[in-house]
Amino acid sequence: MERKSGRKGEETVTCKTALVVSGFDPTGGAGLLADISIIRREGIHAAGVPTSLTVQTGKKVKSTRPISRSYLRYALQGIHETFDVWGVKIGMLGTPAIVSEMIRYLRISSLRWVVVDPVFQSSYGTQLITREGLKLFKEIMPLATLVTPNRDELKLLSSIFGIREKKREPLCHALSEISGSSILLTGGHEKERGTDYLFQGGRMTEFPGRTEKRNDFHGTGCAISSLILAHLIMGHTLTKAIKMSKMKLEKGLHSGFRSRDGRWFIKL
Ligand code: PLP
Repeated sequence: MERKSGRKGEETVTCKTALVVSGFDPTGGAGLLADISIIRREGIHAAGVPTSLTVQTGKKVKSTRPISRSYLRYALQGIHETFDVWGVKIGMLGTPAIVSEMIRYLRISSLRWVVVDPVFQSSYGTQLITREGLKLFKEIMPLATLVTPNRDELKLLSSIFGIREKKREPLCHALSEISGSSILLTGGHEKERGTDYLFQGGRMTEFPGRTEKRNDFHGTGCAISSLILAHLIMGHTLTKAIKMSKMKLEKGLHSGFRSRDGRWFIKL
């Protein structure tokens, strides 16, 4: 929050605003509800638009219903008429119409920070984007500051860009160079679960993590990308933002709780 004196001497109070565009998960473990509450806890106001109304339990995404392209466009307009938007976190997009609308939006809004969590499939196997929507990531990635794939999402992104490299490190460098975006590979290699790797400008930075309880948490990808956006908006460098976000996520995992259907939820 920032207090400023207005032209006539009256005091105004402002708050930096982040935008979240992601799927609506009614359990609050992932998607819009999780993203907004995580960002707000960091002292940044968060506004948000759902891309898809889902029905899910802790483990299973049972159905998805995309919102219309025109709703997304007018909701974004309304948010811009209300706030100065400092950055956006993009999660589940779902359909080519929604991905195209976000490409259009990013081109006209030229936001400072664009963090894209490429949500393609839930951990328990439900497809969260169509094939045509997936192909459009070729256009959305160059508009991003940071893209945060896990290992499965990395494979899909590299196939869209036609990258044949099999070894993870040169593959991530190639994807970062071709797409023009920094890449944070989340989850790490098998033996080092919890370690993330940042690929930026031909350099790799390793962010070690603890292994505890990382195995079956709902919404870890949503949480880390939202935390990173909040820390970038606060003014931290990308590496500092990632380090701080990982520390906070680890705490959230440590105080996590188990749902009735046996999934772990983060508690921040
Ligand atoms: N629902 C929404 C809206 C999501 O954004 C995601 C993942 O990002 C999921 C469900 C699936 O989450 P998980 O794979 O952690 O179960």
